[in-house]
Amino acid sequence: MKPLIVANWKCNPSTFAEAEKLFLAVSRGASKTGAEVVICPPFVFIPGLSAITKNPVKLGAQDAFFQEGAFTSQISINILKQFGCKYIIIGHSEKRALGETNKIINKKIKACLENNIIPVFCIGENRQERRLGKTSKILKSQLKEGLKGISPFNIGKLVIAYEPIWAIGTGNACDTDKAKEANIFIKKTLTDFYSGKNIQKVRIIYGGSTNPDNALSFIKDAGMDGLLPGGASLDAKKFVAILNKF
Ligand code: PEP
Repeated sequence: MKPLIVANWKCNPSTFAEAEKLFLAVSRGASKTGAEVVICPPFVFIPGLSAITKNPVKLGAQDAFFQEGAFTSQISINILKQFGCKYIIIGHSEKRALGETNKIINKKIKACLENNIIPVFCIGENRQERRLGKTSKILKSQLKEGLKGISPFNIGKLVIAYEPIWAIGTGNACDTDKAKEANIFIKKTLTDFYSGKNIQKVRIIYGGSTNPDNALSFIKDAGMDGLLPGGASLDAKKFVAILNKF
């Protein structure tokens, strides 16, 4: 399977003109990549970018609400679907830091799966938890809560992003050994929760200070199925350099 590279633009750039320029530069640069490429811009840029989306770049979103109706400020999955969003990042640590709970994350993952959207479910420990040797415990509880009630049939559609919080936006990516350990632990935990072949279809990707120099080693050495670059995805040259590793 092709490596999956999901760009998280976060709350950037500040204007649509810049977003369009970046999107077009990445689309041009991505023409020869062997990776599956998904760009997740801020919500308001999605309609404009969907009009200029072309292979191999796909559009995604950074979040979505699990319901429609009287929910001021929220954006539903159906609203996003009409603009061709195929993937939605759910449970990013920056959303969790603003109060998003495992319970809400679980509802959002279920809503994505029910609507044929692929959730990119983010999990990861913070620096203190890593220092105290609690990484496995944290990953297990995030997986347990986030996947509550998700059927063995649907589980195979999921993408799980291992994003150690201490590596996000710091320039200090996780060692490939640690990323490999987390990858193996996530797979083992999924096997404990579910039986059946669908578990092997779950894609596990890595995010946290990825760049053109370390991108390949997360796939080759840590066995990841892809990457979730944040900062590097805002620089067309850097992001295309990552894509062209594959
Ligand atoms: C992220 O936004 O999830 C992320 C991993 O950011 P960065 O690549 O900048 O660490």
